[in-house]
Amino acid sequence: MPLRAVTGHRSLIGLLARAVSRDTLPPTLLFAGPEGVGKRTVAFALAQAINCETPVRMQPLPKAADDISELDACGSCRSCQRIERRLHGEVLLVEPGDTGVIRIDPVREVLDRSGYRPFEGRTRVVILDEADTLMGAAQNALLKTLEEPPSSSVFILVSSRPEALLPTVLSRCPRLRFGPLSAAELVGLLVKDHGYNETDARAVAATADGSLGRALRMNSGDLARAREGASRSLQGAVATKDPQRRLAYAKDLIAKKDVAATDREALVLRLGAMRSLLRDVGLVNSRADHAALANADLESELTKLAAAYERGEEGRVLRAFSAVGRALGAITARNASPKIVADWLMLQL
Ligand SMILES: [Zn+2]
Repeated sequence: MPLRAVTGHRSLIGLLARAVSRDTLPPTLLFAGPEGVGKRTVAFALAQAINCETPVRMQPLPKAADDISELDACGSCRSCQRIERRLHGEVLLVEPGDTGVIRIDPVREVLDRSGYRPFEGRTRVVILDEADTLMGAAQNALLKTLEEPPSSSVFILVSSRPEALLPTVLSRCPRLRFGPLSAAELVGLLVKDHGYNETDARAVAATADGSLGRALRMNSGDLARAREGASRSLQGAVATKDPQRRLAYAKDLIAKKDVAATDREALVLRLGAMRSLLRDVGLVNSRADHAALANADLESELTKLAAAYERGEEGRVLRAFSAVGRALGAITARNASPKIVADWLMLQL
């Protein structure tokens, strides 16, 4: 996939494309950021841009801006196709084996090869995915190469936990920080590439924290139902101040029904959905663009909730949002009783 077709990360991608055009790409790079946001996809796209036989401009060049060229892969030449199909002899991927770690042998193999000039294509690209799983000896073996990379080679370390890498490795690799994808970008990917319908995609994206990897591990039906439950509980909370009536809604928060195997999982799913809904309520009340809403398909419910929260005392949405965060912390990190957490939370909303 060429760089221009990658979802999200526009400024990073612009930076990389300009570096390719000007031949100023550093020979070692660290792609750091949350898992499942497309770091490895960008690494392969970059490998295509570097090795494409007939590169194209990423965007039509505006007049009077002739030096800001951003070259990208054509996506269809022999080199692009071979990289896409992972058959290119000079684009090498090293990733953890069945044991979950990268041992020294595959690293040695790559290092041995990088002693020779690339045969196919102009530049060898070595992608070390989940580089934080490199064993100590493997990282040490890499050090010298990262320090003096062979000409015509680019080493890309990809990691969602860069702090697990040796400081000596980190200091040799300029770091590019990838952020989470936006909810709208996630919805687009889920619908376009993974066959989700719009409603399920929205429900999943709203609680996936910008990670496609996380979104794909979630059961969209469960999440859609969890979101309905969270929305009902919030509406119940804003409709009454009576503690007894509010506590009645707490039961809904932990009702397993068909969303989860245990009370705890059911509550975690609904709290995640509730947090996302409250974030949107805050956005509606601050008159933000509705395109920024994670749950844009529930616009009428959000508008009603936002109006109810706006009628309440100052800062109520923020307090509710942070209460949900505390409830999630109690249930996931401190193993609190789901019933006690749900009761407590319903009185805070
Ligand atoms: Zn090409």
